[in-house]
Amino acid sequence: MSSENRTSVPNSLNEHWMPFTSNKDFKANPRLITEAKGVYLKTHHGKTQIDASSGLFCNPLGHGRKEITEAVTKQLETLDYAQPFQQGFGGSFELATKISKHTPGDLNKMFYTICGSTAVETALKIAIAYHRAKGHAERFRFVGRERGYHGMNIGCISVGGMVNNIKTFASVLMPGVQHISHTHLPEHKFVSGQPETGDYLANDLETICANFGGENIAACIVEPIAGSTGTLVPPKGYLQKLREICDKHGILLIFDEVITGWGRTGSKFAAQEFGVTPDIMTMAKATTNGVVPMGVVACNDFIYDAVMDASPKGAVELFHGYTYSGIPVAVAAALAVQDIFEKDDIFNRAKNLAPYFQKGLFSLQDLESVDNIRGYGMMGGIDMKLNTKPGKAGYECFKACYEAGVNFKATGDCLIIAPQFICEEKHIDEIIEKLRTGITNYQKNQKN
Ligand code: PMP
Repeated sequence: MSSENRTSVPNSLNEHWMPFTSNKDFKANPRLITEAKGVYLKTHHGKTQIDASSGLFCNPLGHGRKEITEAVTKQLETLDYAQPFQQGFGGSFELATKISKHTPGDLNKMFYTICGSTAVETALKIAIAYHRAKGHAERFRFVGRERGYHGMNIGCISVGGMVNNIKTFASVLMPGVQHISHTHLPEHKFVSGQPETGDYLANDLETICANFGGENIAACIVEPIAGSTGTLVPPKGYLQKLREICDKHGILLIFDEVITGWGRTGSKFAAQEFGVTPDIMTMAKATTNGVVPMGVVACNDFIYDAVMDASPKGAVELFHGYTYSGIPVAVAAALAVQDIFEKDDIFNRAKNLAPYFQKGLFSLQDLESVDNIRGYGMMGGIDMKLNTKPGKAGYECFKACYEAGVNFKATGDCLIIAPQFICEEKHIDEIIEKLRTGITNYQKNQKN
């Protein structure tokens, strides 16, 4: 089998321990993706599928973008890798300047990481480093949110709020982490956009401050819209309240924009969409259109300045970094993505397409096995009714949809839908039509 054309099932599937996958189930009935171009994927059965979740929210610009491939290839031929400590690569400075033009407020300092999880871990460490620099070592606590997803490293799952992600690892979680409630209320059924009710849920943070001392809390981290748990959209006024409570107690507010960043909500970042500026913001995924792993932590100038000022001249100010922090090949991909954002006016494209997508998404609510739908911008979550064991409906439905020619990620009982921004209306129609077929077939399978 040639390296470019891996179209058949390998002789042995035994040695690869697959991530977030039922290995036993998969190995009995493998599903391999062999090619991707534009909005379409191809399976090893030679079937074409439409990509309904932009990979894992990674490829809003479509698959196989020539501009990115060329930039990465050129970079590999010029400088493939150089270690990134105590020396630099020009492109990474250029990229940081470009990103700072898009980020809200004074979030002008970029720290590069390898992925979303390492961006979150870095954000938590920067929050601690900032408070220490200001002489507040007592601020070691973090506040996360139920049903939040922040990646899979120990710090990430500690501040995250997904039960399945922590139940095996409860004994090694970070100490001093509390969680505020998630924002999905029963009255938010089939709501597209921001729910009118529920801003009071932010007061949970005030309760935690009362119980543990606001002066002991380093940061509160939330996804502006919880993505991996099915598009839980913040109620109107909720994020503003979180901001106010953080300000009152000197707590840093971290927005994890790994999913919501780079146009997914219709604005560059959800922070701008909802008019609330965090102190630290994480991004990954669409930063490189998913083709090379990369994460970025954007920090407010005051955080960077405090950490710099607290350190003697010539010393390393922050003992943190990764072998692959801002490596040339990731930077080259990200710079090419920045060019496409501008050339194709991509954020406006997403904003203009969003109402059409939302209309299509909510048209699925008549299906018998659909329990709930939520949506915002170019993202949506469809909860399936529990005809099967809890937590299995999403996967069972994913398999039926895969057969029907539509590809996406399911989590628990929820289908995660996030089309590419390059979609035309006809592609949105195709996604919705194939979801309808797949979900209908799933319903039939459940009854048999
Ligand atoms: N934060 C959020 C909001 C995410 O959605 C994800 C991944 N889905 C992560 C962090 C972790 O990113 P990664 O898988 O690249 O480590």
